[in-house]
Amino acid sequence: MVLTTDTIAAIATGMTDSGIGIVRISGKKAVEIGDGLFTSPSGKRILKNAESHRLYHGFFLNIDEVMAVVMKSPRSFTGEDIVEIQCHGGVLVMQKILEAILKAGARLAEPGEFTKRAFLNGRMDLSMAEAVIDVIHSQNEFALTSSVNQLKGMLSEKVKALRADILYEIAFIESALDDPEHISLDGYTDRLAKKIDNLSESVSALIKTADNGKLIKEGISTVIVGKPNAGKSSLLNLIMGEDRAIVTDVAGTTRDILQETIRLGGISLNIMDTAGIRDTEDIVEKIGVEKAKKFAGKADLVLYVADTSVSLDENDREIISFLSSHKKNVIVLLNKSDLPSVTTEDEIRGLFEELSGQNGKKADTAQNDTLKANVPLDDINSKENNAEQIIVEKPGNRTEKVIMIKSSARNQSGLEQLEYTIKSIFFQGEIKSSNEIVITNMRHKEALQEAYDSLGMVKKSIQDNMPEDFYSIDLMSAYSSLGRIIGEEVDDDLVNEIFSKFCMGK
Ligand code: GDP
Repeated sequence: MVLTTDTIAAIATGMTDSGIGIVRISGKKAVEIGDGLFTSPSGKRILKNAESHRLYHGFFLNIDEVMAVVMKSPRSFTGEDIVEIQCHGGVLVMQKILEAILKAGARLAEPGEFTKRAFLNGRMDLSMAEAVIDVIHSQNEFALTSSVNQLKGMLSEKVKALRADILYEIAFIESALDDPEHISLDGYTDRLAKKIDNLSESVSALIKTADNGKLIKEGISTVIVGKPNAGKSSLLNLIMGEDRAIVTDVAGTTRDILQETIRLGGISLNIMDTAGIRDTEDIVEKIGVEKAKKFAGKADLVLYVADTSVSLDENDREIISFLSSHKKNVIVLLNKSDLPSVTTEDEIRGLFEELSGQNGKKADTAQNDTLKANVPLDDINSKENNAEQIIVEKPGNRTEKVIMIKSSARNQSGLEQLEYTIKSIFFQGEIKSSNEIVITNMRHKEALQEAYDSLGMVKKSIQDNMPEDFYSIDLMSAYSSLGRIIGEEVDDDLVNEIFSKFCMGK
């Protein structure tokens, strides 16, 4: 890819009025342009001889009182000379400063062009450059941690280590084939087979993190169901921490927005069709079962809000009947636990068992055919002692979990436990520790998968007693696939596409 070296500029901060705004210039003429526009309080041009990475106070033409910093190549974000002007964060001020810079000879930067230059100048590899935008777009704590780890080069280091191992084997095979007198391949295939197993295991471990990675980055798609007045809107409001929906005593009089992403602790839940929760027009929607049917297929998680202060009715039966026949992670929120209990957990559990039995499975197996959910129950129970989980054991075709949690929207209880339970279900009891690599980028996952497949081919060639040069062909493709993650052997179109998704000024 050809690196353009003209001088670019853009507003680096948000286009809203704020305390401080930053306009950034990068390229060969950055210092010259900055020097022509910025003067010290005594009216001197000082940027040309300014110390790198030091902030200078002064004026930008007669537009604003500013601070300016010069970052000399190669010790800058892009690897080129950079000048940053920190002005007052008014949109007009920033625009006027940018206009003056463009007039003085810079070109308006394309979205992501600063980071693209950083990549092309070798300041960071492609996975690190991609992490820059992931950091900016992070929606929750865990997405942020994994993006910052990637930015720090954790993934790159791992990929480089894997590639070095592969390259060693390629080089060994090649040298042995070139110089059979001095380098023997006797017993080599056994050693290589073991090495390939280890490499495949490492690559596969990375691929496995991608499921978590996707959920961390994109959020868990969630549908909330429950009969009218069970407390769905109240719980949603509680999670959102503000009264976004109108909650009333009259069944179904609340209405609000469509889908929204809410943060529960460190994770994001994408609540599907929140309007449906409060739909007054459609009786079926109010019951919730139609909504469950419509969205459960797309959802990772179903939150079923049951009102334990009243008896279970036909609506609950219908919802449970549907849920019990679907392989979905279901969390039952036993809501209104502050009121005297009319419906117990046992009753709901019984109904799940009874109705899943009716769903084409033998009811008599329901008692015994108990499947344990993969949740550290003791841990959960110790989290909040007034709350109780019941793992609804699943006869028949359910393979996912149904977990019950006592909640009260009124007393604001049950949410900590809900968060913990969701993490337990989706992240195997814990979100990856901050030192672990989590694959959050589909491009990386695909490259890893290709590398894994190529390693499998090497293994197959060994098993089939193929000649050694066969091994190196597939080892080479595994090496190339991994290289694509860090930006080696990627074509211009891909690089352009990746950076075009960046924001202006980054
Ligand atoms: P939805 O129709 O399922 O969305 O139910 P709402 O959230 O609109 O709640 C219906 C009524 O139940 C409202 O009057 C809420 O204040 C009340 N409510 C919701 N959750 C609780 C709870 O945990 N305890 C008590 N006592 N009342 C609740």
